Amino acid sequence: MPVTSYLVAIGSNRRHHRHGLPGDVVAAAMVALSTVGEVERRSTIIRSAAMGPAGRDFANAAVLVRSSLDPPAMLCGLKRLEGQFGRRRGRRWGQRVLDLDIIFWSGGTWQSPGLFVPHPGAAARAFVLQPLSEIAAQWRHPVSGLSVRHLYRRLTAPRPKHRGRACPGGS
Ligand code: ADP
Ligand code: MG
Repeated sequence: MPVTSYLVAIGSNRRHHRHGLPGDVVAAAMVALSTVGEVERRSTIIRSAAMGPAGRDFANAAVLVRSSLDPPAMLCGLKRLEGQFGRRRGRRWGQRVLDLDIIFWSGGTWQSPGLFVPHPGAAARAFVLQPLSEIAAQWRHPVSGLSVRHLYRRLTAPRPKHRGRACPGGS
């Protein structure tokens, strides 16, 4: 497979016995990702409030990785890293030492059992789009054609207040 690029989101909300707090786990994962390719760009590490019953706040970041792995092999490599960081598969939104998701791929879309690229949910979450916009603001969603910057702004822009419309025939 020729070399392609992946945007990978990194999240942690649980301390690791050796690496330490979630922010340190994310920093260590950025280094460990060299096992799946060449880490070309790294975002800063941000904190975000937990979703659902996960409990503690998350540390999140994103990286641009160039790799000759195809998407299923990349996912396999990411799951191996999650396992090495002590992640146990279980509750979907539970506490996790490390979560690695493929958000975008330079090859466009990919669908196979257990793998959807672009990642269906994460591409609409601020804690994913904020780090992504630091390292790949111009990157376009392969289906909508919207840039990462556009998707992030759309998600975070204040909504205009709803102005009640006069009822037809009413006063
Ligand atoms: P999430 O990351 O959505 O919070 P999990 O990390 O528990 O949830 O992942 C659940 C499953 O989602 C994984 O086992 C993986 O097979 C699947 N999956 C589908 N598409 C992707 C993707 N683009 N990146 C990572 N995992 C994916
Ligand atoms: Mg995941």
